[in-house]
Amino acid sequence: MNTSLAIYPGSFDPVTNGHLDLIERGAKIFGRLIVAVLRNADKQPLFTVDERVEMLREVTRSFPTVEVDVFEGLLVDYARRRGAQVILRGIRAISDYEYELQMALMNRKLEPSLEIVFMMPAESYIYLSAHVVREIAQFGGPLTGLVPPVVERRLRAKVS
Ligand code: ADP
Repeated sequence: MNTSLAIYPGSFDPVTNGHLDLIERGAKIFGRLIVAVLRNADKQPLFTVDERVEMLREVTRSFPTVEVDVFEGLLVDYARRRGAQVILRGIRAISDYEYELQMALMNRKLEPSLEIVFMMPAESYIYLSAHVVREIAQFGGPLTGLVPPVVERRLRAKVS
């Protein structure tokens, strides 16, 4: 397993500037970073997995060491398959902590060699989530500074 390869998993429905901030920070630390979109059959997403991957690829094009992939099932199995030993997650407010702690400890129990690394975004993205972005888009609110321009266009088209 490789500590210079990290996986950044999430729904990315859609990718926001907060996610991008984390990707940029992660890309500085790890030799390679895989942004992995979870294919989750239970959820009712706004964008299909393919649409989310397309947007992620477009906005990470300038990062040569960043790859976008899709996974389903247990994250630890996917990490093992990809030969990664590090999972990257973002911590925003304190409210993220409890859920992230539970997930991290459970993943560690399933795969003790896995390390979970938490990073904080820039202050301006602390309150930003894909959920909030979807709500603002649904009511026609301003999205400038919250998502990359290509995502803003796709959101407007999706909800119109
Ligand atoms: P969201 O909570 O926005 O729906 P995801 O499920 O796609 O996001 O989250 C994937 C990862 O990205 C999680 O670790 C989450 O904490 C992190 N993340 C999401 N938004 C931000 C942000 N604004 N700043 C830092 N990390 C973030």
